[in-house]
Amino acid sequence: MGTAKVDQFDIVIVGGGVIGLAVAYQLSRNPAYANKNIVILEREKNFGMQTSSRNSEVIHAGIYYATESLKAELCLKGRELLYDYCLRFEIPHARIGKLIVAQSGQESTLEALEKKAIENGVNNLTTIDHALLKRIEPALAASSALFSPSTGIVDSHSYMQSLLTNAEQQGVIFSRSTSVESIKLEDQGFRLSTIIDDGRLRQPYALRTKILINCAGLGALNLAAMVFDELEIADSRLQWSHALPEQLFSKGSYFDYTGRNPFTHLIYPLPDSEKDALGIHATIDLSGALRFGPDAEWYEHIDYSVDPTKAVVFARSVQQYFPTLDPFKLKPGYAGIRTKLKTEGTPSDFVIRNEDEAGLPHLINLFGIDSPGLTSSLAIAGRVESLLAETT
Ligand SMILES: Cc1cc2nc3c(=O)[nH]c(=O)nc-3n(C[C@H](O)[C@H](O)[C@H](O)COP(=O)(O)OP(=O)(O)OC[C@H]3O[C@@H](n4cnc5c(N)ncnc54)[C@H](O)[C@@H]3O)c2cc1C
Repeated sequence: MGTAKVDQFDIVIVGGGVIGLAVAYQLSRNPAYANKNIVILEREKNFGMQTSSRNSEVIHAGIYYATESLKAELCLKGRELLYDYCLRFEIPHARIGKLIVAQSGQESTLEALEKKAIENGVNNLTTIDHALLKRIEPALAASSALFSPSTGIVDSHSYMQSLLTNAEQQGVIFSRSTSVESIKLEDQGFRLSTIIDDGRLRQPYALRTKILINCAGLGALNLAAMVFDELEIADSRLQWSHALPEQLFSKGSYFDYTGRNPFTHLIYPLPDSEKDALGIHATIDLSGALRFGPDAEWYEHIDYSVDPTKAVVFARSVQQYFPTLDPFKLKPGYAGIRTKLKTEGTPSDFVIRNEDEAGLPHLINLFGIDSPGLTSSLAIAGRVESLLAETT
């Protein structure tokens, strides 16, 4: 590969999705890092081209998550931070509220959900009976619903652009088309070998950093393995790779609805706890367009294609709460992939940790950042900032 130039940084963030950008924003406004060189390395030619632009763009209230889980804590904190951020930096968003609907016989599940929400600190849900539902959402078929006034929608692209602009104004560098290929451990930190490939030119680029923050999303475990493999080479008696969680991919597809949107709220069926997913819901974007999804399907690899034949299953599922849906107006939209960590019996949670136990306090890994990662992004960034403060 020839002799590549080696630049020195204080902090390298791998991944320019919403999490890497929020971390960069958070650190860049902390006076403790005012004179630090911070760079975001992103493999794609722009920010947010993977999971961060393939989601429902919903600001979640924090209803569903296991009590005392990181998801529950950071969703609640993150939601308020995100609303404040949107107001402060004029990011298009709307607190339109959501209805979680029960069909006849499902009322006890709805009650259990409300109980969990209260345990999580979400105290503003109200139960809406059939008659009132008919007045609020005439096209909706349900026996009752929980109304969540704190749920909203956000223009995630504008949000990410704003995080990046704010971070760049504080001196953060965004290095696009830069893929981290290998990592070597050194006395003073990490040496990263990357390939910069902008489609015309492909060249190696090496850099050193004291602090490495792994926000690589679906690639986070691969990236961490680059470091842990190095540890094993350094001491072949220790199997560090066992310290890494195992990951599953859950693909979620969306269908756009080309018919009239009859709804003014987000409409969710009851969650699918077997698949650790929220069910095929109706989301409205800021232009008022309606789409349905995501479903949940276990996948071995990253594949963003949407199978058009799924329209039949989507129609059947959605017609339970929207009986007048016209199946011919469902058009394949986009798909995203959730990263789920293998756990025994509990739902997948966020993992945000420094690798102190492996003797690497300056490596911060973020694993399993699926939904509600967008909502929680600023709270996740705050968590990373606290971890760094403990070790620097
Ligand atoms: C179907 C679906 C629906 C969702 N709906 C919601 C929702 O409504 N509300 C909500 O709050 N959350 C939602 N989420 C979750 C949310 O989208 C994610 O939590 C969030 O986008 C994760 O961001 P990220 O930055 O971790 O990952 P990403 O956006 O994937 O960013 C990681 C980046 O790292 C880069 N990368 C990886 N490896 C390397 C490498 N070796 N070198 C350089 N760069 C690398 C990738 O190119 C990528 O851009 C949803 C997720 C899915 C899949």
